[in-house]
Amino acid sequence: MRKIAIVGAGIVGTCTAWALSQRGHQVTLFEQDSPISHTSRASSKLLHGGLRYLETGQFSLVHKALQARRFWLQQAPHLCHPLPLLFPIYRHSGRPRWQVGIGLKLYDLLARGSGFAPARWLSSADTLRHYPDLNPNGLQGAYRFFDAQMDDHALGLWVLAQTQALGTELVTQHHIDSLAELAGFDHIVNAAGPWVMDLRRQQPGAAEHQIDWVRGSHLFINRPCPAALMLPVPGEQRIFFVLPYQGRTLIGTTEVRQAHPAAENASSAEIDYLLAAHNHYHRTELHAADIVATFSGVRPLLKTAANPSQAKREWAFERIDNVLHIYGGKWTTAQIQGQAAADVLLKT
Ligand SMILES: Cc1cc2nc3c(=O)[nH]c(=O)nc-3n(C[C@H](O)[C@H](O)[C@H](O)COP(=O)(O)OP(=O)(O)OC[C@H]3O[C@@H](n4cnc5c(N)ncnc54)[C@H](O)[C@@H]3O)c2cc1C
Repeated sequence: MRKIAIVGAGIVGTCTAWALSQRGHQVTLFEQDSPISHTSRASSKLLHGGLRYLETGQFSLVHKALQARRFWLQQAPHLCHPLPLLFPIYRHSGRPRWQVGIGLKLYDLLARGSGFAPARWLSSADTLRHYPDLNPNGLQGAYRFFDAQMDDHALGLWVLAQTQALGTELVTQHHIDSLAELAGFDHIVNAAGPWVMDLRRQQPGAAEHQIDWVRGSHLFINRPCPAALMLPVPGEQRIFFVLPYQGRTLIGTTEVRQAHPAAENASSAEIDYLLAAHNHYHRTELHAADIVATFSGVRPLLKTAANPSQAKREWAFERIDNVLHIYGGKWTTAQIQGQAAADVLLKT
């Protein structure tokens, strides 16, 4: 049994603690604030394969994420559920039907065995039955496919409870200033998410990986949403979501580079951007007065592309002596990432 310190009780640090405690190690998890309070609580709440990541060739990640959905649904069915999504197709705008159809065929193929129904095409009349407020002008129909939705905060705390039941000690409101503070531990895991470089810089040599801080913001609208939508932002390759969430409508997200790891509040430009994207596809316009809350989080993206939309959502490890630094990742795949981190850490 080894004594292991983990810095950061986001979903990545918590899943790593879970993997290590399952293997019988004595884990202490240090968190500067409260657990699952930063990026891991500011997600789009989707346990998803990431249909759009197929466009950037991230087949292995999508495959892992599609299979991971089932893991969460089986382990914590009270905190997540399958979610049907509509991908509406419009004449003369966005991706053509054939392209989305091929993407979803591949998505279904990679999801094989995970227990989700395959995608199917809906006529425009059927689409409007599912979502009456959708703009009918130029609507050809929609693909209906499945992912899953979670309460990210509650599910993260559930993982924490699992690892605490196996003996993990949680120390909150405790900022680790230096690796030297953790000298009494056999191993250290740096799972500080957007703050990963703060501890990495304390070790010699150039880091093998760099992080891009990319803020994503969401809007909450206090009205129910009839169905989940995945839509292209007008005039862009980016997609955004309009989602039913706990009786309200959740709209997101944005991609704005930041110069530091702490999330800034949603800017007025981000709010306008999301409202305009929503209104483009709806008969009923939303205005700033309809927004009841916003929230923002910073993605700790592996620096792999100039455009954050194109950046890989994979993770990477760097092990230096007894310290493992973790870069990047996705909520959906955090349990797999935690097991992989434990494998690398324990390799002699
Ligand atoms: C807008 C947005 C939408 C997203 N949507 C989805 C989605 O729908 N589905 C999905 O799968 N993924 C999604 N993601 C990605 C996912 O949320 C992140 O990949 C994941 O939450 C990152 O978790 P983390 O543990 O690395 O970071 P964090 O949750 O930020 O955790 C890091 C923790 O480390 C702590 N910490 C840092 N430094 C120290 C220190 N020195 N001492 C003590 N504690 C420290 C911090 O306080 C923090 O709690 C989204 C991300 C964003 C931003």
